Amino acid sequence: MKKPIYLCLAHMGGSEQRYIQEAFDTNWVVPLGPNVNGFEEDLERFLQSGTTSTSASHVCALSAGTAALHLAMVLLGIKVGDEVICQSFTFAASANPITYQGATPVFVDSETETWNISPQLLQEAIEDRISKTGKKPKAIIVVHLYGMPAKMKEIKAIAEHYDIPIVEDAAEALGSSYNGQHCGTFGEYGILSFNGNKMITTGGGGAIVCKTQEAKQRALFYATQARESFPYYQHEYIGYNYRLSNICAGIGRGQMEVLDQHISHHQHIAELYAQAFTDNPFITLHTNPDTISNSNYWLNTIILSENAPCSPDDIREALAKENIESRPLWKPMHLQPVFQNAPAYVNGVSEKIFQHGLCLPSGPWVSDKDVQRIVDICLSTLSV
Ligand SMILES: *Cc1c(COP(=O)(O)O)cnc(C)c1O
Repeated sequence: MKKPIYLCLAHMGGSEQRYIQEAFDTNWVVPLGPNVNGFEEDLERFLQSGTTSTSASHVCALSAGTAALHLAMVLLGIKVGDEVICQSFTFAASANPITYQGATPVFVDSETETWNISPQLLQEAIEDRISKTGKKPKAIIVVHLYGMPAKMKEIKAIAEHYDIPIVEDAAEALGSSYNGQHCGTFGEYGILSFNGNKMITTGGGGAIVCKTQEAKQRALFYATQARESFPYYQHEYIGYNYRLSNICAGIGRGQMEVLDQHISHHQHIAELYAQAFTDNPFITLHTNPDTISNSNYWLNTIILSENAPCSPDDIREALAKENIESRPLWKPMHLQPVFQNAPAYVNGVSEKIFQHGLCLPSGPWVSDKDVQRIVDICLSTLSV
C-alpha cells in the first residue's frame, strides 16, 4: 500500500511533553496553571509580532474554538430574538453558537476573491434586516476561511457605519495577516482554534482574543462558571465551564515553538501547488488576491473550471485510490437543512465554489515529493 498522505495532521515540535511533565511534577492537573498563563502570553506575543498595529491583544485560552465563539455571543449580550449576521461559507461551528443564545443567524454569501463575506451583500443584508425587523443585527461573524483574510477594510467600514461589533472567526487563520495586522485582532472579539487539524493543536482547544484586559477578565469570568468574588459560591449570572486545561495548554506551549515553521511550511506547499498548476487551464489555486492579504494557506484549495473534463469528486476518488486524503469544501450554511429557515442573502458565489472546489493536503507532514504525487494524480485525472 502506498504511503498515506493526510489533509492536515497534528505535528509535534518536541517540547510538548516537557511542558506536560512539568504540569504533572508540580501537580497542576487542572483547568488553570502556569501552562495556561504561559500559552496565553505566547499567543499575545505572537499576535503582536511583526505587525504595524500598536494595540495589544488579550487572550483567554478556552476548551474549544466553538466555546470561544459562544463566549463572544455571551459577552456581546446576544439573546433570544436577536439576529446575528454570519458568513454563510464556513464550518457549522461559526454559526451554531448564535443558536445557543436563542438568536437567529442571518447568512451572507461571499465575494469571489477571498471567498469570504461579501462587503456589498453585507451592507444590503444590514439595510434589509433593519427595514424588515426594525432593528439592527447585533453582531457580524466574519470568517477567514482556509486562512485567507477577509476584506477587513471594507467590512470594518460597514460595521463602524452601522455601529455593529465584528466577531472574527480566525479558527483557520492563525498566522494569516491583512495589511500588516494579524487575523484575529481586528474584531471586537477574535476566535482561535487548536483542534487536531488546525495550524497548531492542543489536542482540542481554542481562545478568545480581546481588545482590553477588562474584556479578557469578563471572558474568564464566564468561562469559569461566573463565580462572584465571595468566599462561598455566589452566582449572579449564568456561567460556563470553558477554560483550557493546564495539560492541553502544555501542548500549546510546545506548539508555539514551531508555529512559525508550520506557517512557512503551509505557505511553501502553496507555492509548490501554484507552480505545478500554473499552466493548467482547468485548475485555479485559491491564492492571495492582493499584496495586503497574507494567507497562512491552512488548507490549499483548488477550483475546477466549468469546462473541466472531470469533477472535483473524480479527483477526490483518484487521490483516495492512492491513499491520499482530500476533501470537498465547506458546504455553505444557507444550504444546510438545519438552517433552512434562517434568512440568507445569497449571490451564488459560495454555492459555486462548493460545487467546483476541493481541499488538498497541506499540513506539516506533506513533503515536496508528496505534492508531486498529488499534482500528478490531479493532472492525469484532468487529462482523460
Ligand atoms: C475549527 C473551526 C471552528 C471551531 O473550532 P473548534 O476548536 O473545533 O471548536 C470554528 N470555525 C471555523 C471556521 C473552524 O474551522
